[in-house]
Amino acid sequence: MAEDRIGFIGIGAMGAPMVRRLVRAGRKPVVQDVNRGAAELIGAEAGLEIAESPSALARRCAVVILMLPDSGIVERVCLGEKGLAEGLSPGAVIVDMSSSDPVRTRDLGGALADRGVALLDAPVSGGVRKAADGSLAIMLGGDDAAAMARVTPVLEAMGRVRRTGSLGSGHATKALNNYVSAAGLAAACEAVIVGRAFGLDPATLIEVINVSTGRNNSTENKVVQFILSGEYKRAGFSLPLMAKDVGLAAALADRVGRPLPGLRAARRLWSDARDALGPEADHTEIFRFIEGDGRADDAG
Ligand code: NAD
Repeated sequence: MAEDRIGFIGIGAMGAPMVRRLVRAGRKPVVQDVNRGAAELIGAEAGLEIAESPSALARRCAVVILMLPDSGIVERVCLGEKGLAEGLSPGAVIVDMSSSDPVRTRDLGGALADRGVALLDAPVSGGVRKAADGSLAIMLGGDDAAAMARVTPVLEAMGRVRRTGSLGSGHATKALNNYVSAAGLAAACEAVIVGRAFGLDPATLIEVINVSTGRNNSTENKVVQFILSGEYKRAGFSLPLMAKDVGLAAALADRVGRPLPGLRAARRLWSDARDALGPEADHTEIFRFIEGDGRADDAG
């Protein structure tokens, strides 16, 4: 059987290195981004076709991968004017690798199924570094077993695929993972701030935590590298996107009737930090917010 022609929409911090992995695996995806410069850059680098709109891309592709900021944008790209639904043929597959809202993903799946198009969710963990070396953790959810089998070899060019269950399960798993990750980062920031105030050397504190039971991904890969060094932006994951993920996990908790205290506190912390630090902040800048920068007051 001939290989499916792949389309890729959303050539940002994650999308660009993911497209490079597809190219290394011998695929030539058609690319599209609302920021045409981002698509042109990778198009020139790898000799890829650029599409003017999602519908134009859809007319050339049977499998379309999305790596977009959030569910609202994913829905517009799929169903809006010049969206994918205008161009895809029945039997096509859309793989949403963005960190989207699991409930909205299920609804979108229903709308696309009415048009004969299968939706799968396949969000990722690992950040820009693992996107670049093709070792992302990919959480694949879906209700169409044939479509899942069809896209798995494509996804394997970007990381290791783990099946999480029905449509939306990948997005739910991803939101909960990022809540745990965000909580670990905030705890590490608090430890550094309190330790420093007591007179501890932060680098020594983190070094000891990393051979002790408190270690986590943030203590190992973020605190020294991006926070203590002051190179926050190099971490490459925006604070508003992390706030979105924590909000999705908290909304899921509300929806299933388990509005637990840690999730509620994390939602408040990350949304306050987003409001204070603005759209360009990196998620590691939560340290600056917790330390006191930009915080209006501590009440409530
Ligand atoms: P990004 O902002 O760097 O990239 C998003 C891209 O989508 C941009 O190039 C933007 O121009 C494009 N875009 C926005 N609206 C569009 C539209 N209507 N049509 C076409 N293109 C459009 O974000 P990112 O860091 O690459 O994250 C993408 C997704 O991956 C998010 O859901 C994020 O939560 C998730 N994620 C990010 C990381 C990370 O470390 N950066 C890790 C795991 C998951």
